[in-house]
Amino acid sequence: MFKKILIANRGEIACRVIKTARRMGIATVAVYSDADRDALHVGMADEAIHIGPPEAVKSYLDIGKIVDAAGKAGAEAIHPGYGFLSENAAFARALKVAGIVFIGPNIRAIEIMGDKIQSKAFAAKANINTVPGHPGIVESAGEAVSISNEIGYPVMIKASAGGGGKGMRIAFSKDDVAQGFASARSEAKSSFGDDRVFIEKYIESPRHIEFQVLADAHGHVIHLGERECSIQRRNQKVLEEAPSPFLDEETRASMGAQAVALAAAVDYQSVGTVEFIVDKERNFYFLEMNTRLQVEHPVTELITGLDLVEHMIRVANGEPLSVAQEDVKFNGWAIESRIYAEDPFRNFLPSTGRLVRYRPPLEADADGLTTRIDTGVYEGGEISIYYDPMIAKLVVHGPDREQAIDHMARALDAFLIDGIRHNIPFLSALMQHPRWRAGDLSTNFIADEYPDGFSPRLADGPDLDLIASIAVAVDHVSNTKRRHISLQMRDGFDAFSERRVVRLGDNILKLRVSGGQGQPIVVERAEGQKRKGKLFKIESDWWPGAALWHGMINGQPVEAQIRPVLNGYIISHRGISALAYVYTEREAELAALMPIKEVPDTSKFLLCPMPGLVVSIAVAEGQQVRAGDHLCVVEAMKMENVLRAEKDGVVRAIKVMPGDSLAVDAVIMEFE
Ligand code: ADP
Ligand code: ADP
Ligand code: MG
Repeated sequence: MFKKILIANRGEIACRVIKTARRMGIATVAVYSDADRDALHVGMADEAIHIGPPEAVKSYLDIGKIVDAAGKAGAEAIHPGYGFLSENAAFARALKVAGIVFIGPNIRAIEIMGDKIQSKAFAAKANINTVPGHPGIVESAGEAVSISNEIGYPVMIKASAGGGGKGMRIAFSKDDVAQGFASARSEAKSSFGDDRVFIEKYIESPRHIEFQVLADAHGHVIHLGERECSIQRRNQKVLEEAPSPFLDEETRASMGAQAVALAAAVDYQSVGTVEFIVDKERNFYFLEMNTRLQVEHPVTELITGLDLVEHMIRVANGEPLSVAQEDVKFNGWAIESRIYAEDPFRNFLPSTGRLVRYRPPLEADADGLTTRIDTGVYEGGEISIYYDPMIAKLVVHGPDREQAIDHMARALDAFLIDGIRHNIPFLSALMQHPRWRAGDLSTNFIADEYPDGFSPRLADGPDLDLIASIAVAVDHVSNTKRRHISLQMRDGFDAFSERRVVRLGDNILKLRVSGGQGQPIVVERAEGQKRKGKLFKIESDWWPGAALWHGMINGQPVEAQIRPVLNGYIISHRGISALAYVYTEREAELAALMPIKEVPDTSKFLLCPMPGLVVSIAVAEGQQVRAGDHLCVVEAMKMENVLRAEKDGVVRAIKVMPGDSLAVDAVIMEFE
């Protein structure tokens, strides 16, 4: 076995590979750019080598630097992770020349499968179902139109070198084709340096279902079942699960057989993924093969109990597969949520900055439920602008789909992140979505269900009672503690039964709370004979100051996040983030007399996201800015943070000057 390997990647996947290597007794070498000096993968590896500036082309994508680093460290093999150089045939070739083992497939497989036109032709020859379409390069807009007319609308124009959802256009008509052809081609040119495009039938409302294959250098090829990845945003995966709720045994068997046949035809070795799209009638078509470890491989690991990275390393070491197809058993249900540093409420704009608080739920394996976190960051660390916005993967496993979803919902509730924007509220909302729960999926799911973007779930119905009751319980515990401290116990004062009024948006709930101090807290409705009665029995060891609240409510485990504000709490639970004011009855009477404070419209302002010092202003008053434009730099915690425009607009006024020190939410500039 190898004594030392280098991991030519960063973030969660570098950490994940290091974990397995360590378990196998293999020493690990990390590489890092200037932006990653303090990154988690650097600390985790046995040694770490600096490879250049933050820009990936000058560091993680620089073949020469990676090969040199491996030589310097004496690494015998390189694991490329995903992205970066993982599907780069020139990289595999350079390693061969240098006498370093590439932990991945052979060069020919990378080359054939790395090109969509070529891989499609290859698959068709191997009798794999491919999407109906034109088999070659399309040279002109005129040709694109006549091919599309022949295929029948809608069609998809795709970059042959494409990846990561880039270089694709859908065309519903002749007019769309001419335009789509030009834009797909220029995007392909700028993203991949290769402007070849082709055209195939656009399968409407398909599902994305892919098969994991595993092969060795001795001719053994098996598959490890499927993953469904239909929940995508702009052709990028958000949620993945295994197995697929859509496949019957017959379809599963024939898709698995085709995936294995394709891998065998290309003399595949290592792990790989054969992606298919599947229409409503369960017709399936080959999309592409990814010749690498996939982001979502943990769901396969959880239902098969196999460590895919270990198998990759063993195969690269020349060992034959230690599992045969009949040894592979699928057990239970696994789901992965990709935690992205992006703002779901602002059209998923990437978010960067300091992770002021980062507390994922604990990894655990108990009562038939598993929680796994593949993470590449830590509390206090920095999310930089240079790399992927994915910061962690939350993966769960349960006996069946419903229990896995419930478990995911709770784990998301317990995932605390402050300091940057993140998509957990969106993921939490998805977990409650009836169509997701029913497994009624398609790659258009997010576009169909959130046509105007995502806004926070509002508390209503049973959620309203639940959130109000948590607020009251939290308030009750805080008051009890406060009273103990100030010894303000009055004679005859009933510390254990208090009436409270909760204002949650437009809703006023009158509640009575009792118990606590080691006893369950009981929350009842205080008014209205018919609706009067016990709502919840709440057991929790929450203590003031804890941001995470967990406990049993009527015997069911519940997780929520508590952020105290004046007279109340912001309570986050299941994608709901609600401000609950908790008043005594007297306070409520007075509060009712107070004018309701209008929530200011902050969309016209650039607010300072953290306390910091203004370093520079990049725009002038009256200037037109586009979404994403650099507006100013604010230094915080010794880091310079570039603040960018969230949408197109004109700068009306600039309120600060370089050198000013700012508080959170200070207005930096105003837009028209
Ligand atoms: P998966 O199917 O494993 O989810 P993705 O398509 O999401 O794969 O890509 C995995 C990673 O590789 C992502 O970080 C993505 O940004 C990156 N990636 C994929 N293809 C390319 C490409 N052609 N160029 C640059 N990055 C890519
Ligand atoms: P990439 O290399 O960018 O991952 P893929 O070919 O795998 O490109 O396609 C990415 C996604 O785009 C798929 O998961 C699917 O949602 C959608 N897609 C691709 N081709 C088609 C098609 N012919 N019809 C419908 N959807 C498609
Ligand atoms: Mg793909």
